[in-house]
Amino acid sequence: MNEAELTGQVRTHIAVVPDPDCALHINVVAPFLNLRRAALADGFDLIAQSSFRDFSRQLTIWNEKFSGARPMFDAAGAPLEARELDPKERVEAILLWSALPGASRHHWGTDVDLIDRHAIAAGYRVALTQLEFAPGGPFAPIAQWLEANAPRFGFFRPFRGSRSGVQPEPWHFSFAPVAETARRDLTPAVLQRAIAAAPLLGKDEVLGQLDALHARYVANIDWP
Ligand SMILES: [Zn+2]
Repeated sequence: MNEAELTGQVRTHIAVVPDPDCALHINVVAPFLNLRRAALADGFDLIAQSSFRDFSRQLTIWNEKFSGARPMFDAAGAPLEARELDPKERVEAILLWSALPGASRHHWGTDVDLIDRHAIAAGYRVALTQLEFAPGGPFAPIAQWLEANAPRFGFFRPFRGSRSGVQPEPWHFSFAPVAETARRDLTPAVLQRAIAAAPLLGKDEVLGQLDALHARYVANIDWP
């Protein structure tokens, strides 16, 4: 992937999959459909609730949270008022739940948030919370199935909550053969250029601590 692809500013690396509806790196389509086929054989309708996401979408989420137009939450899920926080505190609060634009693994098309469509009624609003994937939750069985079977298809969980600065995300899986190359290629310098060129709120604060943010959210992920 080139710099623009690594930071989600173009979609030249992305293929649109009509069924099930998602957008993936061209080299991740076949592995994902193989994983889905195996899940289907065991009774799960495995789909990507979220797949490729571009830089501008991530930028919108970031700027809305920073400005207070979109709610922000602390680690316990309690709402935070943007105007009561200084720029450093806002950046910290946003990063608890959202990726820095340019630093999301969803930019690569290698990462998917997975759910089982069979497990929920029509009209159920998927929230992607720990509770949904914990014992008793609708996605507990698919979480268990993925834990056992995803590695055979090249998928792993980068956010287990043990190493990275990201909260545990039992739904988030990544296709290692392509994602690991992207992770190495997305250097602090590449991320710096993408952010410096964007209308990002809190940009000075972000650029001032970019090496630390890169180490925490890009480099230091969980590995199987
Ligand atoms: Zn995700």
